[in-house]
Amino acid sequence: MSCIKLQDVTKKYDDTQVLKAISFEVKEGEMVSLVGPSGSGKTTTLRLLAGLLEPTSGEILIDGKNSNVLSSRDRGTVIVFQDYALFPHMTVLENITFGLKVRGVSVKNRNEKAMDLLGLLKMDGFENRYPSALSGGQKQRIALARALAIEPNVLLLDEPFSSLDTHLRSSMRSLISELQRKLKITTILVTHDTEEALMVSDRVAVLLDGEVAQFGSPKSVYMSPKRREIAHFFGDNNEIECEVTEGGLVLPSGLLKIDTDYGGRTHVVFRRESVRIHAVDQTPWKGHIVGCAYTGSTIIYEIETRDATIKSIQDVNQSWEIGDAVSLEVPAKELLIYRYDTGAQL
Ligand code: ADP
Ligand code: MG
Repeated sequence: MSCIKLQDVTKKYDDTQVLKAISFEVKEGEMVSLVGPSGSGKTTTLRLLAGLLEPTSGEILIDGKNSNVLSSRDRGTVIVFQDYALFPHMTVLENITFGLKVRGVSVKNRNEKAMDLLGLLKMDGFENRYPSALSGGQKQRIALARALAIEPNVLLLDEPFSSLDTHLRSSMRSLISELQRKLKITTILVTHDTEEALMVSDRVAVLLDGEVAQFGSPKSVYMSPKRREIAHFFGDNNEIECEVTEGGLVLPSGLLKIDTDYGGRTHVVFRRESVRIHAVDQTPWKGHIVGCAYTGSTIIYEIETRDATIKSIQDVNQSWEIGDAVSLEVPAKELLIYRYDTGAQL
């Protein structure tokens, strides 16, 4: 297993600055997700780590060694792409053992290794199939087996589940988590699926526009997004515009004292699960129900207020109906307050 450190890594293509001084560390055996909108530089970062691209400036250290001086084999990294990239003319067994063959491992040993991996990935009995006779999920598992066969120190996964259907995605997620815990392999998972990132990783790095905008535990990134874009990236949130005056933050429910030197407009963001619904007149923030959507385990209410239409997730025992006059409450500590001009958290 290896630890990884990126220090002020930049990448420029001609005139385009794709990565702007990226720095973060991945500890030995850790699983880190790299999330961000399309085009934010996730694949570029992964390709730099794999040695498929060279940084324009900055350093990538693998176990403290500058990766510039390491051959791609000495890096011990392996990358699994979204489109599997299996060799179509080779059987499953030949695909998995390819890297071992190149490394001069005996037929017996490499076949044993492949059979072990097929077992681990619940693909026993598929060794003689060709990729064309496999489903998407099966191909993805073979691509993973092929990557793991060479016992890499670092596993790099580029949106490995994005072409799978919801059900398969969730079983592949569990499988990856289980494998990662079992093999304790340092892993970086690129995904644009925020739920996936929160579920499977020890830490999450959020990439925005070629910069690491936040890096921390799934809980810290979700509960305290440092920028407005990050808050919205992690979920379907409510947002209202409020003013900070000398008295505090002017919320629809009244004045909230906050500790800040900033004065002026803000975006106040809060999650749907933070919105409590009460009978009318119980709080100063009034509205009426204009929508309710039953999801099976929850109900999502839409409440029209003077300021905005607010969404609230409630358990199915609630029985508000369209047209009901209600009042709203959001606990102050669940409000995320961002400067209107820069989007930075207050
Ligand atoms: P992501 O994986 O987050 O969607 P990428 O790392 O693939 O993003 O790309 C980041 C940016 O770099 C994009 O704007 C993309 O157009 C640009 N880019 C990627 N590869 C090249 C290249 N070979 N030449 C020029 N621009 C590129
Ligand atoms: Mg990508």
